Amino acid sequence: MNLSDDQVQTIVNRVVQDVLKSTPVEFKESVSEENWGVFQDMDDAVEAAYEAFLLYEKMGIQDRKKFTDCVRQVTLDFKEEFSRMAIEQTGMGRLNHKIAKHENVAKHASGIEFLQPECYSGKNGLAIDEYAPWGVIGNISPSTHPSPTMLENIITQLSAGNTIVFNPHPASKGLNAYVIERCNQYMVKAGAPRNLVTCVSEPTLDSAKIMFGHSKTRLLSVTGGPGVVAEAMKYEKPVIAAGPGNPPVLIDETADLELAAKEITWSGSFDNNILCIAEKEIFVVDSVFNSFIKAFERQGNKMLISQQMDHLADKVLEKSGKHYLIRRDFVGRNANILAKVLGLQLADEVPLLFGETEAEHPWVVAEQMTSCIPVVRVQNFEQGIEEAKKAEHHFEHTSSVFTKDMNRATAFAKELKTDIIVINGGTLRGNGGDFGESSFSHTIASPTGQGITNPRDFCRHRRIMTAGAFRFV
Ligand code: NAD
Repeated sequence: MNLSDDQVQTIVNRVVQDVLKSTPVEFKESVSEENWGVFQDMDDAVEAAYEAFLLYEKMGIQDRKKFTDCVRQVTLDFKEEFSRMAIEQTGMGRLNHKIAKHENVAKHASGIEFLQPECYSGKNGLAIDEYAPWGVIGNISPSTHPSPTMLENIITQLSAGNTIVFNPHPASKGLNAYVIERCNQYMVKAGAPRNLVTCVSEPTLDSAKIMFGHSKTRLLSVTGGPGVVAEAMKYEKPVIAAGPGNPPVLIDETADLELAAKEITWSGSFDNNILCIAEKEIFVVDSVFNSFIKAFERQGNKMLISQQMDHLADKVLEKSGKHYLIRRDFVGRNANILAKVLGLQLADEVPLLFGETEAEHPWVVAEQMTSCIPVVRVQNFEQGIEEAKKAEHHFEHTSSVFTKDMNRATAFAKELKTDIIVINGGTLRGNGGDFGESSFSHTIASPTGQGITNPRDFCRHRRIMTAGAFRFV
């Protein structure tokens, strides 16, 4: 059979296309020569995200879904590698829990479904309320969940139609740059503009300040401790601030103590207590105190005597103004690593160290974010509420109560006023996803009032009104 030149060319084109379709995307292993959103200079990172926004805002909401689905896929494809890198770079947490956090982000980070417009029609006409993007959002991500927070922020804020620049925590800058590269590579392959998300390769406090003050960052989204929240609020632009917490638990004499011990052990030891919503101190009514301690030990936790709690606090915590902070080397460490400070040898699987302390003890005052929890005896439920409020420092972040008396549970919720309140469960259950109900986020904005954030929180709320027309019924 004789084929013409055109026919040969058509066949060659088809074969090449088939090969390309079946070839998996090959990505280079490290930060590549080609720029995939990682910049040396913060000004360049902001400008690139701005250029990307000008293209992105012309695209449709289904494009947003397609690109954020790519980010969910990155999260699943690299969940183990990202988790291992986080442990290598920050020294914090446990591998299986980090992988679970990535799965939670991929499955449950909130998306475009939160952006349904609202319509109101009546005798005066038709009003439509819409959720519109701001433009470029300047983001700070923490060391405690470097890739899950970044990935979840990307899904949520791109869903809202924005583009994003990050100043990641310096401790995890390598991992965070790698995440940005992977996300851009996947999204560009699906047709996205380049640089929907960007970051700097060498984040510093100065680069954070440039990002905060840049005329092209319209909104700031800050996840971190009190220092960075206070800094971000100095700038004349809106801030969504996910600040610190110090979640107290109160257990009364009606509570199911086995349930309380089991739930607090699971939730309080998850990723070695580095979640801002994890239980940080436990108040127990005197009449059931000893029974709870025994139940908590039966969960595999190691009880310390008071002198050991004091000694460990001396080594692990340090005074900072009125409060205590944990020394960075001890954040998110396994219980057996902390126990070594006391000369104790424990198995790697021991979830938590714990011990009785006074209500003013540094272990109670500090947001410790590691595998040691103080347990405080209170005379009754009412005193427990007062102590829980003090320990929470008015962050209004997260708290929990174990009781069978629902009037007491209601009173607790009214008094504590936290964004997340869990009744008869581990505090992790309050943040939706795989462990609870409703939406999930790694950015829980207590200081600025959004609570568990979703794409609507990263939008401007706009209305269009057609006066005297379009009511058609
Ligand atoms: P961190 O405050 O040490 O660092 C966060 C980021 O802020 C880093 O990038 C850091 O370099 C930067 N930073 C710190 N001080 C700054 C300043 N003055 N100016 C500019 N940038 C500054 O926090 P971390 O150790 O990474 O994370 C743990 C903290 O984050 C805890 O307090 C935890 O409760 C909080 N957190 C809150 C949430 C939430 O949803 N509310 C989620 C995760 C973590």
